[in-house]
Amino acid sequence: MVYLVGAGPGDPGLLTVRARELLAACDAVVFDALVNPAILSAEAVPEGAERHFVGKRGGESSARQEEIEDLLVRLARGGKRVVRLKGGDPFVFGRGSEEAQVLTRAGIPFEVVPGITAGVAAPAYAGIPVTHRAVATSVTFITGHEDPTKGASGTDWSALARTGGTLVLYMSVRRLPEIVEALAAGGMPLDTPAAMVEWGTFPRQRTLTATLGTLVDSARAEKISAPSITIIGDVVALRDEIRWFDERPLFGRKVIVTRARTQASWLAERLAALGADVIEAPAIRIEPLDPASLRAALGAASQYRWVIFTSRNAVDIVWGGLRALGLDARALAGTQLVAVGPSTAAALAERGLAADVIPERYLAEGVVEALRGRRDVRGSRVLYPKAEGARDLLPDALRELGATVDDIPIYRSVPDSAGMRAALEALQQGSVDIITFTSSSTVRYFVESVGVDAARGATIVSMGPITSETARALGLTVTAEARTATLDSLIEAVVGVGQRGSR
Ligand code: SAH
Repeated sequence: MVYLVGAGPGDPGLLTVRARELLAACDAVVFDALVNPAILSAEAVPEGAERHFVGKRGGESSARQEEIEDLLVRLARGGKRVVRLKGGDPFVFGRGSEEAQVLTRAGIPFEVVPGITAGVAAPAYAGIPVTHRAVATSVTFITGHEDPTKGASGTDWSALARTGGTLVLYMSVRRLPEIVEALAAGGMPLDTPAAMVEWGTFPRQRTLTATLGTLVDSARAEKISAPSITIIGDVVALRDEIRWFDERPLFGRKVIVTRARTQASWLAERLAALGADVIEAPAIRIEPLDPASLRAALGAASQYRWVIFTSRNAVDIVWGGLRALGLDARALAGTQLVAVGPSTAAALAERGLAADVIPERYLAEGVVEALRGRRDVRGSRVLYPKAEGARDLLPDALRELGATVDDIPIYRSVPDSAGMRAALEALQQGSVDIITFTSSSTVRYFVESVGVDAARGATIVSMGPITSETARALGLTVTAEARTATLDSLIEAVVGVGQRGSR
């Protein structure tokens, strides 16, 4: 079976539900250069699925169409569920229809999954509707690939010049001068509004507005290149009023997010929603340690008056330990739970556990402050499942308050160098605006992997005083700090510097 699937214009959110389902269950995916790699992430496609790239790479020419068709037939005959993934919509200038013909002739069943085409999406993300009741009642999609000076061209440019509706041109960068000339010769007024949208729906989207008369010079001056959509018609003027995507607070800002992989996505998603071009460089990976001591402690959980959680990871691992012992939330029924901050408390809540104490300051010092002065600490037994190498401040202070503390290392943070390559490359190109650090260990591992000089090239935003101190000790300048140690407040700080510091 072959699925001819549209991947949409770039923004992974514009993939259809059907496309996502098929990708998650395929044996092979055959994709083009215009498919955003983010759509083919490790989470989206099964680990064992074959990946065949058949688009242009560097100077190489595209794999010939026939070879692609042979590949589809061969994979399908081999019993594979094949996703043929194409940019935009597979049947809009995508040669998907030719592939469907070949499959039909070969007797191979197929399904077509339409996608959001660039000719609608790129204008929309630039604030240009392709139709508008009062402005344009028709829209024409045209390939600019044909040579308009050749008489045999299939496109009647002088007829198009007179539609009065919107013209949307694909693949039009190279032949733009000839196209504009042909439209003008056909009688289209030179003051007709025109626009080009490059890398539409991507964080690096650029939009140029001009008129038919000035379009060629403007495009040259701005060095507009493929992939771009050209829009010609009065609808272009609506952009002034309804542009939205490129007005987001972090639009066009490149931000590196350094967190353990499991936690990075939420932060990355939020920043992307604010318009940022996010590079996820998980500086550290969480590695659980030998569970024996934790399990022994959890097996006798009722002896503890307190359990202290200082991270989401600790909650995850303790919960896993309980489940492995055949226990659940009831094992902690007699204990008081401390969560270092709202995110840790949320992790507990996901398991049906309400935190009894959340300190005002979301760090170890805050926990000590919150527990000092409570009568039920002296003489009590405290379980503190912690990161290997965590500071001793918390257990020391609790012992001083008269508690017996079992502090058990349950995980360690290890460097994750694979995730670092993209970050280093972007830093070396000087294109990174902001780096976020959420803990001292992420700073250390990041600087270790990319070097302090590379990291100095960007504005640094940190989660709090201790993280900042580590960064400074390593020779970095911290420009902004989260007001409280939460991701929300970190995001606020990023927006603060992102809006201020334009490149
Ligand atoms: N099937 C695709 C079009 C393939 S032709 C679709 O439906 O969108 C390739 C052309 O599509 C490019 O030359 C460019 O004109 C346009 N295109 C594709 N993705 C684009 C994007 N993100 N921004 C602007 N133009 C894009």
